[in-house]
Amino acid sequence: MTVSRGPGDKTGGDSLHGLVEERLRQAAQRYTSGRRALVDLLAQAGHPLSIEDIAEQAPRMPRSSAYRHLVDLQQAGVVRRVAANDGYFRFELAEDITEHHHHLVCTYCGQVLDVTPTPAFEQAMNSYLASLTGSSGFVSDDHRLDVLGACATCNRARSARRDQALPRATPQPAGRP
Ligand SMILES: [Zn+2]
Ligand SMILES: [Zn+2]
Repeated sequence: MTVSRGPGDKTGGDSLHGLVEERLRQAAQRYTSGRRALVDLLAQAGHPLSIEDIAEQAPRMPRSSAYRHLVDLQQAGVVRRVAANDGYFRFELAEDITEHHHHLVCTYCGQVLDVTPTPAFEQAMNSYLASLTGSSGFVSDDHRLDVLGACATCNRARSARRDQALPRATPQPAGRP
């Protein structure tokens, strides 16, 4: 699996903006400079961004406008909302604009990372899903898989806390390994 998509992929450049403009047009919306700036931010981030992240990276854009733009972009099918574990939504470009991927969700700090599975992973996943849905008559079109856990930073903090909580090891008698 490769962690995060760099700026070199198909989400960069004019083809992205052309696609977004077309979707907004179909939704009777205009591709304003504010919306364009947001799409650029989301494309470059390579992972879902919170309103907080956006405010940090685009300090001149009022949060209220950022939020309104995101809602409009979502309605036009350009942006997708991602639920994290801290109660704050994150936002990313729709999968059919970027590519199918999964999320690593830190349940401590709320950070969400993108991971792109290998074709073999997706094949196995789809055949498992077929066995899961088969008898119900349900037809799977798509799936989402969020992995819950601790990011590297939070895991280090968690291990440190765990070590402190452990009772002190009793000294071993001399002569034993
Ligand atoms: Zn974390
Ligand atoms: Zn998948």
